[in-house]
Amino acid sequence: MEFRFEPNQQRLSDAQRADILAAPGFGQYFTDHMVTVDWTADLDGQAKAFEAGEYLKMVGDWSDARVEPYGPLAMSPAAAVLHYAQEIFEGLKAYRHEDGSIWTFRPYSNASRMNRSAHRMAMPQLPEDVFVKALEELMAQDGAWVPNGEGQSLYLRPFMIATEEFLGVRPARNFNFHVIASPAGNYFGGEPKPVSIWVSRDFARAGEGGTGSAKFGGNYAASLAGQLQGASRGHDQVIFLDRSPDDSLEELGGMNVFFVTKDNKLMTPRLTGTILEGITRDSILQLGAEQGLEVEERHITFDEWKDGVASGDIQEVFACGTAAVITPIGRVADGEEIYDTPSEDFPVANALLKRLVGIQTGAEEDTYGWMHRLA
Ligand code: PMP
Repeated sequence: MEFRFEPNQQRLSDAQRADILAAPGFGQYFTDHMVTVDWTADLDGQAKAFEAGEYLKMVGDWSDARVEPYGPLAMSPAAAVLHYAQEIFEGLKAYRHEDGSIWTFRPYSNASRMNRSAHRMAMPQLPEDVFVKALEELMAQDGAWVPNGEGQSLYLRPFMIATEEFLGVRPARNFNFHVIASPAGNYFGGEPKPVSIWVSRDFARAGEGGTGSAKFGGNYAASLAGQLQGASRGHDQVIFLDRSPDDSLEELGGMNVFFVTKDNKLMTPRLTGTILEGITRDSILQLGAEQGLEVEERHITFDEWKDGVASGDIQEVFACGTAAVITPIGRVADGEEIYDTPSEDFPVANALLKRLVGIQTGAEEDTYGWMHRLA
């Protein structure tokens, strides 16, 4: 698929961009351009697939791929996304290497995860090569926005929305795929420090058969009440549980969770269909094995967490994801009960962080073939 280019006549000056890149924060500033690709249903093709039993096959065509000025989207107030939330997204980062080249991390994993999300939400599949080409085309124009300071990157946000003007409840017949990009520093602001987690008992994020493993906007809206409840008690993030039958651990609002035991086990909740299949999570499982840890994906209960940190069997707890990378968890609060993580310096989390960031930034050899050059 070829992309056309429509330049932004009001693109920021080099000086304006340099000011933003000096302190980008997270998700506040956007580059000069964005990607748009349109999708239109082929109703005959779709009817045939439906009759053949492929009821979730969205048959149609992607067209008019373009890099255009970043700016407001024009859509009908009746657009399906605004009413029934047919929306999915992805998140990955572009890193500037020492020679000036621009790279991203495992983009085909994001592309295939977006298609799994699309399947769950009755949305069209985007060919993986178009997903990756969209990132390359955007970086060909906006590469100067990739910062090179320590811990900095350009966060790439692909997303797909239902744009059809129709209020009936059924999958839309028009969608747009977009990519926008936003320079990023440390997700939690300031120097990295262990965060404090609130256990969400009043609010769940996902349930069996639901949308928990899709990167679907509604999941994030559903996580906000728990997040606010935790924030009002002074906590940075919240962990969601699967309450039946035994309070097993799921994930944070936007991160997966890991534990390091005193006998060098690296454990994380197994994938159940109710948690997001984090690409950082998958990478850490591989890097943990590389570092000689015994890795385990399994059912882990909250009791195991609190008893483990109390007895010292669990030494480190950390969260991971594209935005937060690896963030130590220093404390968990279950109502009035507070449990502190024994480790103060988080040596295993820091070793994993160093290796992961080393690969991403080009400081260490990419023995897994995870990096993809964008520009
Ligand atoms: N869980 C949730 C709910 C998330 O939103 C994210 C961020 N995408 C993650 C986990 C971590 O996934 P990844 O490592 O692919 O960024």
